[in-house]
Amino acid sequence: MDRLTILIIITNLIAALLILSIALIGEVGYLYVNSTFQPVQVVWPSDPFYGEDVKIDRLENGDILLTTSLDFIANKNTLIFGWPYPSRKELRATIKNYYLSPKIVRLAFSINNETIYVSQNYLVPPARIEGWRILPGVLNVSLRAPIPRTPFKFRTEGETIIELKTLDTSSRNKCFFRLRVVRTAGIRIYFIKLRFPGDPIPSMSHKELALFLDFLAATYPVPEGSLESNMLIPTITIDEISWRGVRYKIAELQLNESTVGIMVRDYLRNYVTKLSWIAWKNKVLKTYWDRTIAIVPHDWPRRFNQRWAGNTLKYSTTMAFIIEHTYPCVLAHELGHTFDLSDEYHLGEYGIGPSIFIPEGRPAYGFWVNKLLDIKDSECFMGTATKDRWICKLDYRKLVKKLEVHARRFSNKEILGVCGYLFRNGSIFLEPFYLFKGGVYDRVLLRNASSPIIPLDARPLDILYEDDEGRIIERYRIFVGFRRVRDFSPFCLRIPFNPAAKRILILDSWNDKAIFRNISNYSPTIQKIVIKNNLTHLIINWKAFDPDGDQLFYGVNLSLDDGGTWIPVAIDLRQPFISIPLQELKVKGKILIGILATDGVNTSFRYASYDLT
Ligand SMILES: [Zn+2]
Repeated sequence: MDRLTILIIITNLIAALLILSIALIGEVGYLYVNSTFQPVQVVWPSDPFYGEDVKIDRLENGDILLTTSLDFIANKNTLIFGWPYPSRKELRATIKNYYLSPKIVRLAFSINNETIYVSQNYLVPPARIEGWRILPGVLNVSLRAPIPRTPFKFRTEGETIIELKTLDTSSRNKCFFRLRVVRTAGIRIYFIKLRFPGDPIPSMSHKELALFLDFLAATYPVPEGSLESNMLIPTITIDEISWRGVRYKIAELQLNESTVGIMVRDYLRNYVTKLSWIAWKNKVLKTYWDRTIAIVPHDWPRRFNQRWAGNTLKYSTTMAFIIEHTYPCVLAHELGHTFDLSDEYHLGEYGIGPSIFIPEGRPAYGFWVNKLLDIKDSECFMGTATKDRWICKLDYRKLVKKLEVHARRFSNKEILGVCGYLFRNGSIFLEPFYLFKGGVYDRVLLRNASSPIIPLDARPLDILYEDDEGRIIERYRIFVGFRRVRDFSPFCLRIPFNPAAKRILILDSWNDKAIFRNISNYSPTIQKIVIKNNLTHLIINWKAFDPDGDQLFYGVNLSLDDGGTWIPVAIDLRQPFISIPLQELKVKGKILIGILATDGVNTSFRYASYDLT
């Protein structure tokens, strides 16, 4: 070989090495992705009124970690938006390319490694070498939020990671949103149309019901599709009440007199709560529903010389409220009270703790996920609920905690429904109790019995089970509220029963007064049920006795589907008969009539069938 040939070969070799090394240098480059985002279910983790609830950490390895103290709900529809709040509608990502060649990437979101979104292809320009420095190629991507186009759900409880990374060419770092997912249960709401004789039947159309459940699903921390209500809403006509064991005709009472009005409403609260206990589904003698909504005619508040759209108790010692119309925000507001949420404008009066004045109309920012509707500059429906409102973050957080506890409220063991009235002077009046084979209990009410903190203007009431030697074997504490003119307060709730109990003690430790109810050995026996039809009324008679000689109280249930569901007709009856106007029944064909008998605690059930033709 001559020198020229050798030179050419060497030159070519050097050139090849150079190209190879440049290519190698190019391949040791990397991608860096920078993006911030937030998931939303109902309220924004970051919003202008409550400020920044999202913390951002840029880790040493280049990862971007976002965290929030707001809990998220398992199986609830979720969407991803830009962070912080003003950038919510646009999810921005910057990709820096340190390779000397252009790179194709796609952006991908995943939840605990399961991909939920992949973007289109993007071309990231190559890095340039300027002197001794490598200047990365930069691509700014703007994705229209929310992402993905259809909502996703967190499937498992506990710590959860939303991860953003690049596909095709993977980035050296990742962007994470770390959050906690909690499990809440849905809410089973039993509707009753409540009226006095002569009143029109309160209206609640299927459309109104659907609107309400929609709004509730949008604003409450509950899983998708977990709100349940009865489709067949019974109309209950009340012509008399019982107060401290004495019966009064509604027509003879001065409802517009303050104390009488409260007395009647409190009686009705307890009454409709108990009706919902005996509205069974699938199983006999197992309670099913969580909350009771009594829809009343529009002119009811005027009769009571009051103005209200909805009427709920402080400290929710009964799981029921009375409402005169069906505007979704009003229902959501009153339901909020049954989960111990306060009226926003005056925390001290309804809430726990010192009186704190909160300006009315606390702002509520959020997103109606299932309608893809941005809710901004709205006000909290726990303030006033008369217009279109949303839930504020403070109340949402409280609800998450309540509904997390609420998720563990089922029992296969016996459940006791206790009810009565606590008076300011310490006297206690008990109504008949009912013992169920299991189902839903109102655990959400049961606070730590040993807690020294007693809410202002509330009285602790202890329910104790004693065994046959008088030892306390279990204790439940509730708080009963007294407010302004109130000298008495009702309680009507379900607690787990203890089969070893021989006596139930209701203790007002404030006044050091107690009342007890013995649990006798035998359950009532219902011997037979006789059903007749006199063309205008269905007349039902039954024969029952108690082996211990206790006074009996009865409940009446109706089933139109051969025992699948039981619709309440009446409860706390003293006499063993009832007549139901056929006009109100509006049913034909085979029906079942179920009779419930309680001796004050022990409860029995028997049914008979009848053909209505
Ligand atoms: Zn209120």
